Amino acid sequence: MRRSRILSGMRPTGRLHLGNYAGALSNWVSLQEKYECFFMIADWHALTDRTDTKQIKQNIRDVLIDWLCAGLDPEKSCIFVQSHIPEHAELHLILSMITPLGWLERCPTYKEKLASGEENNYGLLGYPVLMTSDILIYKADRVPVGEDQLAHLEICREIARRFNFLYGKVFPEPQPLLSKATKILGLDGRKMSKSYDNYIALSDEPKLIEKKVRRMFTDPEKVYAGDPGHPEKCNVYTYHEVFGKPLGEDVEKIFEECKSGKLGCVPCKKKLSSVLIEVLSPFRKKRRELERDAGELEKILQEGREKARQVASATLREVKDAMQMSFS
Ligand code: ATP
Ligand code: MG
Repeated sequence: MRRSRILSGMRPTGRLHLGNYAGALSNWVSLQEKYECFFMIADWHALTDRTDTKQIKQNIRDVLIDWLCAGLDPEKSCIFVQSHIPEHAELHLILSMITPLGWLERCPTYKEKLASGEENNYGLLGYPVLMTSDILIYKADRVPVGEDQLAHLEICREIARRFNFLYGKVFPEPQPLLSKATKILGLDGRKMSKSYDNYIALSDEPKLIEKKVRRMFTDPEKVYAGDPGHPEKCNVYTYHEVFGKPLGEDVEKIFEECKSGKLGCVPCKKKLSSVLIEVLSPFRKKRRELERDAGELEKILQEGREKARQVASATLREVKDAMQMSFS
């Protein structure tokens, strides 16, 4: 029996940040040990909210480097670029024919995007169908998702069920692999995001990390150094817990000393800077090596492309056979 298969992806919309790492990537690194993993750089998905494509190639390279720095291993996982595998698009077209519009219009992320003023294009509405074909073309059994992606995965399962009902069983119904939600807030207190410019990138240099940490919002009730703080509400403290604790930092002490007023925000942030600099130092070192090795990056994507394509074309053949639409 084959190992359970996983598919997940990220959009090449910029360099990856601490949120991407804590919320997804660090989990992917451990999933590689247990599952057969397909990790996709989702360049077509990046087009749903932008028309400027000048940066995409560079962003693909940056995402790949960040993934490798974080520990994704091309020997263990298939790492590829979505648009290198045209079968995703062909399956997307077929699945679009059996997807009722109502399922897509009801989707919460679609409604949110419209409410935020995003252009209502066909691709934005169809995003969950493309995501479905990304998953089903590899017959993935599990999809690591956060709570906010559950609705998309439900659509995926419904489409799989519908296809199997109409044409015979081709697809498994993929199950969510819910990761414990580590939502990292950015420097300004909103969700850390590539698009908000409130992030600390995995590739940031020490000086820049220090500068960004100095800018972080803290407990607004702690005005003077000696004031008692509220670490349970302070984003800086959360970072100590998420990033410092695994390094052996005494976070209970930070908590107590902040609460009592003994620890001011300036030294607390200095501690945090040195934690983050230490956490990210192996990333920077690896990045410098990889940046010099364009051939290696090319090779990884080429091998990923060949492996992904084999699986994807076999699935597409099964789909066409089931539909009695294979022509040799
Ligand atoms: P964009 O602004 O282009 O949407 P993003 O920073 O939100 O970029 P995505 O590519 O949308 O990043 O997300 C990649 C992965 O990282 C997803 O699995 C997402 O859940 C996770 N992720 C993104 N931001 C955070 C965050 N602040 N905290 C935890 N996880 C996050
Ligand atoms: Mg996002």
